[in-house]
Amino acid sequence: MKWISTRDDKKSTGLRDVLLNGLAPDGGLYMPETFPEARVNGVGGLQETAFQMLKPYFGADIPDENLNSIVRDALDFPVPLHRLSDSLFVLELFHGPTLAFKDVGARVMAGLMGHFFEGPSTVTILAATSGDTGSAVASAFLGKPGFRVVLLYPSGKVSPVQEQQLSTFGSNVTTLDVNGTFDDCQRLVKQAFNDRELRNEMRMTSANSINVGRWLPQAVYYLHGFGQLKEMMPGQNPVISVPSGNLGNVAAGLLALRHGLSVEKLVSACNANKVFLEFLSDGEYRPKPSVRTLSNAMDVGNPSNFERIRAMYGNNANSIRADLAAYSHTDDETLRAIRQVYEEHGYIMDPHTAVGYLSLMRYRDGSDSKAPGIVLSTAHPAKFGEVIEKALGFSPGMPPQLASCFERPKQTVQIECDYGALKAAL
Ligand SMILES: *Cc1c(COP(=O)(O)O)cnc(C)c1O
Repeated sequence: MKWISTRDDKKSTGLRDVLLNGLAPDGGLYMPETFPEARVNGVGGLQETAFQMLKPYFGADIPDENLNSIVRDALDFPVPLHRLSDSLFVLELFHGPTLAFKDVGARVMAGLMGHFFEGPSTVTILAATSGDTGSAVASAFLGKPGFRVVLLYPSGKVSPVQEQQLSTFGSNVTTLDVNGTFDDCQRLVKQAFNDRELRNEMRMTSANSINVGRWLPQAVYYLHGFGQLKEMMPGQNPVISVPSGNLGNVAAGLLALRHGLSVEKLVSACNANKVFLEFLSDGEYRPKPSVRTLSNAMDVGNPSNFERIRAMYGNNANSIRADLAAYSHTDDETLRAIRQVYEEHGYIMDPHTAVGYLSLMRYRDGSDSKAPGIVLSTAHPAKFGEVIEKALGFSPGMPPQLASCFERPKQTVQIECDYGALKAAL
């Protein structure tokens, strides 16, 4: 498999460079030169599904045996389809070590990069995080020889639990608390990647969701969830609602459609940050500064995977609309949804998942859909205890993975929102 950039389909690149570069040198996102025809039925368990899904992409570069152990090591936790009612399901993506869906992509990516690593110089993984990416990436690379992780997060704009989790890894992980927004963090990271002087000095790669090593594995849980649904309700095509920010998750869902996922619709669920929704409604893409919401991991004003989605559909907004709808919801609605789901089903949704639930309901209101609905649950509610407390009046219990980070000291470096400061820190 060769890889091309969304901005140049003439020049192709091999897998190793695609993984380690993250972003193509022309600033575009990597895409497979052609999408393999492979279809995966998703009924054989998560690791088996992952191997089948990824082999046509990576099989020529990574021996089967190695690919198999990469997915087995990375995806060693369950992704259950939890049934709330006859027609409502939650696909729980948060049973990995950092309790958010980003563990899936980050852990497979770390395994893939590890496969291609050749010493002696260290590879720096540089990433901006709106909360969950950072922990997932840090956890995936923690203590991995040959790698160090540098994370940037917007000061005061991630949840207290997220911050504690992010800043207590130590070892080969450095965390920078940036006096700015998530978009500022993303901009600084981009600037570092475009800095030739710096890149001559150190090998750097991005771990954001633009990396092919994260994008592809995320398609796996769609197929796995669909496989579980087929066993419970054979022959049904679900509506799948995806809490969306940087659009990596949705881009993976669109990829899964090419490999055997069959849906009535995918739904991109947005909070007040809704540039993607606006694009779907009038075909114009107008990036904006992000606004803060209770579902903070979705506070993105210029989603990086937008370019990839557009490229997958030949720049045609109408064909994107055929597969994907989008809705936007306020914080008040989010709090009400958490309450409603708890009252009706005794189930606690984190605020991102609650936005997903709201979009599913909005889609049903507008369509008389009878299809089973699946909400992707992107994080464990304990990561957002203060929001749950606000909605329900009590905090959800804290799983051991999370409780343990409160026993470790914070090790974060505060920097100004300025490229010079990042460069010095690097
Ligand atoms: C990152 C994140 C999202 C948004 O996912 P994208 O792939 O960036 O669209 C949603 N929910 C949670 C909990 C997240 O951490």
